[in-house]
Amino acid sequence: MKKVVILGSTGSIGKSALEVIRRFPDKFKVLGLAAKSSINILEEQIKEFNPQYVAVFDKKACDELRKRVKKLEILYGNEGVCKIAKLKEADIVLSAIVGAAGLVPTFEAVKEGKIIGLANKESLVMAGEIIKKEAQKTGAKIIPVDSEHSAIFQCINGINKQHIKKIWLTASGGPFFGKKSHEIEDVTPQEALNHPKWKMGKRITIDSATLMNKGFEVIEAHYLFDMPAENIGVLIHPQSIIHCIVEFIDGTYIAQMSNPDMKAPIAFALSFPERLPHIVPSINWSITNTLHFEIPDTEVFPCLKLAYEALSIGGSMPAVLNAADEVAVEAFLSGKLKFKEIYKIIKKVMDAHNAFSIRSIEEVLEADSWARNMAKKEIEK
Ligand code: MG
Repeated sequence: MKKVVILGSTGSIGKSALEVIRRFPDKFKVLGLAAKSSINILEEQIKEFNPQYVAVFDKKACDELRKRVKKLEILYGNEGVCKIAKLKEADIVLSAIVGAAGLVPTFEAVKEGKIIGLANKESLVMAGEIIKKEAQKTGAKIIPVDSEHSAIFQCINGINKQHIKKIWLTASGGPFFGKKSHEIEDVTPQEALNHPKWKMGKRITIDSATLMNKGFEVIEAHYLFDMPAENIGVLIHPQSIIHCIVEFIDGTYIAQMSNPDMKAPIAFALSFPERLPHIVPSINWSITNTLHFEIPDTEVFPCLKLAYEALSIGGSMPAVLNAADEVAVEAFLSGKLKFKEIYKIIKKVMDAHNAFSIRSIEEVLEADSWARNMAKKEIEK
């Protein structure tokens, strides 16, 4: 029986993880749950899964939940979430908090040498170098939950790294695939949130529409698999059946495929090295009979280029990229920015940033908050 901690249990990944756990009560026990503020969902989860530890990030939400749930102590704030992230009894910590807020709790789990199912890609985008070093020190193991990285992990497990030539991350292309630059000038948040293949949270869905998400994934892959940026490629694959392709030095390839459903990588991470039955329905080959690939158009989707640029500059720049994107996406969702301006804001913030080398999480957070302020100022202009 694996004892599972879920950081971000009320988000899209957290809920899917609990769906998997619900089906296999003999394999998993929920040890701890942490959420930002969605206490109605959290209260239901507490009733159903009976965790020993619960934390709520938001003060008001925490106070309210404390009134409603008397049978256990509800931990509060970043400190509470971090306490749950490093529980000694946990067999696996699923890090599924959205955005930069996931960094510190994830790092706590790394410091504790935990096995981490990592859905919070921002941790690696912002602080990949530091997390890698710390994991080497403590023996923490990261099992990717991002679908493409889970796919790569599955393709290269047990394979000699010297034999890998290139990793290809696939991207559905999002709702605006095939559009011209001027056609996506004035798209609404509603149109951008209408992802053709994946059901995900709001921020990542917008990041998919701009291809910034794929850019983050390039950075994530760089740290997870020790691959230089030039050996990580991106392919648009609108069917979202193939999740990654690994190219070997002999000119052969291994790809991983399934119907697109986040439960597949979540269940894989939770059960690794085992596999669970019937997580995703089999592919129906009479419907899925064409797989299409295309090189992304970075003139239409320039955010992808920014991510490669941030990775090549290194140091604090990827954290700045992420922070500026978080602020710009939020502004777009609330109607303060046009779709194409997301890129412009991030570019301005990156251009204004003097990248420095990062030695601690505190320095990462410094870069993060500098970039947030800068992005907000630029949006207000
Ligand atoms: Mg992904």
